[in-house]
Amino acid sequence: MWLQVLGSAAGGGFPQWNCGCPGCRAVRDGSRPALPRSQSSVAVSADRKRWFLLNASPDVRAQIEAFPPLHPRGGRATPLGAVLLTDAELDHTIGLLLLREAQALEVHATPAVHETLRHGSAVLATLERYCAVNWIPVTPGEDVPLGEGLSYRAFDVPTTKRARFGSGPEQGRVVGYRLTDQQSGRVAVYLPCVQRLTAEVRGQLDDCACLLVDGTCWDDDELVRLGLAAKTSAAMGHLPIGGPGGSLAQLDDLRAERRIYIHMNNTNPVLLEDSPERRMVDERGWEVAVDGLEVKVS
Ligand SMILES: [Zn+2]
Ligand SMILES: [Zn+2]
Repeated sequence: MWLQVLGSAAGGGFPQWNCGCPGCRAVRDGSRPALPRSQSSVAVSADRKRWFLLNASPDVRAQIEAFPPLHPRGGRATPLGAVLLTDAELDHTIGLLLLREAQALEVHATPAVHETLRHGSAVLATLERYCAVNWIPVTPGEDVPLGEGLSYRAFDVPTTKRARFGSGPEQGRVVGYRLTDQQSGRVAVYLPCVQRLTAEVRGQLDDCACLLVDGTCWDDDELVRLGLAAKTSAAMGHLPIGGPGGSLAQLDDLRAERRIYIHMNNTNPVLLEDSPERRMVDERGWEVAVDGLEVKVS
């Protein structure tokens, strides 16, 4: 299977329109090495003919244009098979509205995410005024075929982060996806939102060949220290990379061939290619995703 990183930044992108943090300044003025990044989304395919989106970013239109295998093949025939959602965050779902010219859209989401998109943010309620939405309920632990040669299994990712829109059910607010190449049996995991690496979540990662994981912040208090927000990374639902309890330390023994950080916030120093934090990640054999990165898992 192929995984194409369409966008690699967290909500707001890199640089973010209203941000003058050191990273955003550097990528604007070129004073330090850093590549701009659009908001996170990954396309996956087993045959490079039919593609499935993992989350729909606010940058989806430009992301499709930048990736020719997702271009239409005459008329309105699109290679886009469906959109799989990990949660109901706006930076993962607003792109659905930008796909409204579709005759019908297939959206895979848990009942909790569906409920939020319907009655909370109303993204789905709005989308349905423009095109037919075929909702496929996602049940963690269930294997679901995804076109030719691919299947997925979602897993629950517990979070204490308060839902922004209404209360909604707790279960299924955030999921990760295990994607299996049917021919080789090899697994890639997409996990852009993880607050805690519980034993259950960790168990979903142990056998994967490729992991794309939450790289939102380096430090838990990164945004607080920069005076940009009052909340810590963990309070926003994202385990930081650095520190003794961070993902770099916790996943040090993971045997995956490719270990890739994705969904980096613009404040994260790993985005600056000459930073000590970036060096630390590189030295441990991790990658920092960039838009356009292609990963082949076979
Ligand atoms: Zn996000
Ligand atoms: Zn910034």
